[in-house]
Amino acid sequence: MSDVRDVIIIGSGPAGLTAAIYTARASLKPLVLEGEPSSTSDQPGGQLMLTTEVENFPGFPEGIMGPELMMNFKAQAERFGAEFQTVKASRVDFSERPFKVWVGDPDAPEPTHVAKTVIVSTGAQSLMLGLDKETELIGHGVSTCATCDGFFFRDQEIAVIGGGDSAIEEATFLTKFASKVKIIHRRDELRASQIMQDRAFANPKIEFVWNTEVKEIKGTDKLEGIVVENTQTGERSDLDVTGMFVAIGHRPNTDMFKGHLAMKDNGYLITQAPSTRTSIEGVFACGDVQDDYYRQAITAAGSGCAAAIDAERWLEENDDAH
Ligand code: NAP
Repeated sequence: MSDVRDVIIIGSGPAGLTAAIYTARASLKPLVLEGEPSSTSDQPGGQLMLTTEVENFPGFPEGIMGPELMMNFKAQAERFGAEFQTVKASRVDFSERPFKVWVGDPDAPEPTHVAKTVIVSTGAQSLMLGLDKETELIGHGVSTCATCDGFFFRDQEIAVIGGGDSAIEEATFLTKFASKVKIIHRRDELRASQIMQDRAFANPKIEFVWNTEVKEIKGTDKLEGIVVENTQTGERSDLDVTGMFVAIGHRPNTDMFKGHLAMKDNGYLITQAPSTRTSIEGVFACGDVQDDYYRQAITAAGSGCAAAIDAERWLEENDDAH
C-alpha cells in the first residue's frame, strides 16, 4: 500500500492548481493529472490557456495574460512539491477505497494510480460553432466570456451568437461597452427566460438578427467581420463586427464520472455546498466542473482551496497515517 497517494488531482485549471498549492503546502504530495495539450479548454491550464489578457483576476493591477497566469499557478504548486503528469485520466473507480484512477488504456486490468482522496477539477468547455479560425481567434476578437472580455470592445459593434439565457445575459452586459450588440440566433424565437428577453428587447443598443447562422469568420490575426446566412432564404451577407461572443452553452468535462459521481441533469457534478464533497466520501470537486453559475477563474480558485482543505481534514479524520 506504499504506492497509495494521499491525493490525486484530476485537472489543472485555476481550481485544480489552487488545490495543488494547498495540498502540497499541507505536505500531502499531490499528484496532478494535468491533461494533454489540445485546441480546446479541456487541456493543461484549462480555459485560461485560450484567453489573452485577464484583467479581473485580483492581484494583477495591470492585468496578466491567461497562459502566464496559469504557468504561475503551476510553478507555485511545484515549488511546494506537487507532482505533475501531462496525461489525461481515462477511467476512475470510486466504488471502494483506495480510489482507482487509470491513465491511457481504460480497459487495463490494473489502475495506474490509487489514492485515499481524489479532487476532481476537470472544468468545462464552452460549446463552439465549429467554424474555421474560431478557436485560433479566441482572445483576438472571438470570445466565450463577456465578463472577461467585454471591456476590450468599448464603442465597437459586436455580435453575440445564441438565443438562450447566456446569450441574452452576455449581450445585455456587453451593451455597457459596445456601441451596438447584434444577437444572431438561428431561429425566430428565443429560448431565454421571458424576463431576460423583455430586458433585451427594451435595450436600444441590442439588435436581433433572426433565423441566421454564422458561416464564416473573416480576418487572419484578429476578427475583422463575419459572414452570416439567413436560414429561410439562404442569402449570405457580411456583418462588420470586431467581436463575436459565442454563447451557445457549456459542457462540463464529466463523461468519465458518469455512474461514479452524482450529477445534475446538465452533467455538472453535485457538491454538498458549502463544502466540495461529492456523492462519494473522500472525493471532492471544485471549479467549473461543479459550477454552472459563476464560472470565473477566481471562484474556481476559491473552490480549489476549499477542496484541498476538505481533503486534508477528511484525511485527518479518516486515515490513521494522518
Ligand atoms: P442553452 O439554454 O442551451 O441555449 C443555447 C442557445 O444557443 C440556444 O438558443 C440554441 O439555439 C443556441 N445554439 C446551440 N447550438 C447552436 C449552434 N451550433 N449554432 C447556433 N446556435 C446554437 O444554453 P445557455 O444559454 O448557456 O443556458 C444554459 C442554462 O443556464 C440554461 O438552463 C439557462 O437558463 C441557464 N442560465 C441562466 C442564466 C440566468 O438565469 N441568469 C444565465 C445563463 C444561463 P436553439 O434555441 O435554436 O436551440
